[in-house]
Amino acid sequence: LEPNYQFMIRVRLAGGVATPDQWLKMDELANTYGNETLKLTTRQTFQLHGVLKWDMKKSIQGMNDALMDTIAACGDVNRNVMCNANPYQSDIHSEVYDWSNRLSDHLLPKTRAYHEIWLDEEKVTDSRESEEETEPIYGPLYLPRKFKIGVAVPPSNDVDVFSQDLGFIAILEDGQLQGFNVAVGGGMGMTHGDTDTYPQLSRVIGFCEPDQILDVAEKILTIQRDYGNRSERKNARFKYTIDRKGIDWVKKELNDRLGWSLEEERSYSFDHNGDRYGWIEGDGKWHLTLFIQNGRIKDTEEYPLMTGLREIAKVHTGDFRLTPNQNLIISNVESKNKSLIDELVNKYGMTDGKENSALRRNSMACVAFPTCGLAMAESERYLPSLIDKIEDILDEAGLRDEEIIIRMSGCPNGCSRPALGEIGFIGKAPGKYNMYLGAGFRGDRLNKLFRENIGEEDILQELKPILINYAKEREENEHFGDYVIRAGYVEAVHSGLEFHK
Ligand code: SF4
Repeated sequence: LEPNYQFMIRVRLAGGVATPDQWLKMDELANTYGNETLKLTTRQTFQLHGVLKWDMKKSIQGMNDALMDTIAACGDVNRNVMCNANPYQSDIHSEVYDWSNRLSDHLLPKTRAYHEIWLDEEKVTDSRESEEETEPIYGPLYLPRKFKIGVAVPPSNDVDVFSQDLGFIAILEDGQLQGFNVAVGGGMGMTHGDTDTYPQLSRVIGFCEPDQILDVAEKILTIQRDYGNRSERKNARFKYTIDRKGIDWVKKELNDRLGWSLEEERSYSFDHNGDRYGWIEGDGKWHLTLFIQNGRIKDTEEYPLMTGLREIAKVHTGDFRLTPNQNLIISNVESKNKSLIDELVNKYGMTDGKENSALRRNSMACVAFPTCGLAMAESERYLPSLIDKIEDILDEAGLRDEEIIIRMSGCPNGCSRPALGEIGFIGKAPGKYNMYLGAGFRGDRLNKLFRENIGEEDILQELKPILINYAKEREENEHFGDYVIRAGYVEAVHSGLEFHK
């Protein structure tokens, strides 16, 4: 008898855009083979949880029927390419989204193994299906470790572009896309107790034009393929390769491989890395950003969210955009359909989150227990109740509407990008967290360890005086992450190399 193994299945969904049919298929698969919930991830895709081993093939084939796949959603390859989802820049979104899709396709492994294993091969019409494929980009050994790409459109840094191995920052002039600044060497993961591992932010090394983006991405990926650490997995991410070899070496190596040089970086500025909720019009279409706490879509007696979104998908003629902050945009709604969508939103109690504190609207938690095998502490199931208690302090301090970024991960892998939380928690053991403070509101500065291995009582006791002092002492427009540094609670971290100092 075989144990009753269950699995997580993650879709490849570049830029987080799904059609209503794809939404309905994911809903059906979650309710047929999964645990009757969908998780919207911090990399803008779907996860199905609790799929039994013998249902995996049927699930993946169901995704394939709706033109989705799970290729490279995991493994030592380029992962799901993230893209700015912000409907405030809807005019530029389709152009930048198109580049994200092309990046995703260009960097896909060429092997047919996925099709052979999951799709029974005969469904594949490619004439090379039975040939031994080579991997022109990855080579026989693939990458030393996973590789992540994100594309940002300033002033929104919703993709946390500096947390990516490779980030592209769109440069616009008069509303036209000129090209992209190129940033390399970000990453969130580390290992508790090993100071050779650390979160790091990427650094901008130059500018390229739109039609150069695939070449740049490919050559950067091959630098990591050839120089990444293959003997120590904990030190294998691109950020460590860069810190070992030096940023100037990377620039020169890239220019040599390209056969031309990146231009000087262009100026840009970010103003936030969160989502903006509610309805917005752009290009004659309407977009509604809904608050989805920690990205979990499910039905409860009080809140039939999954049913409500299913009903919307049945009538929606636009698309769904999964945001990098685990929220959902009902996007490209035609004016004549807006009242119908609004009716369904109200009927099922869906919300743009405005009734919540700004802290909760800026919160993010990874999955952790019970479905992530790496979890050391609760995250998604715990953060909402911790925020309930922090909200009491916020109310007392008059900070309910103050935007503060709070993030929690159940282990130092950092899937919720906790090192970019103005308040960050990383699980150490059940009920115990390292607490970090001082990240930049724009996703441009890492936070710093403030207290180690503490439980809820200590967390609240530590946070209360800081929040109350912040309310009293903050300067105009001063964000919480900046305040805790100015007030001396933690030192500013300018590079991942300082993270543990
Ligand atoms: Fe799992 Fe750790 Fe990622 Fe959370 S951060 S989902 S616990 S691997």
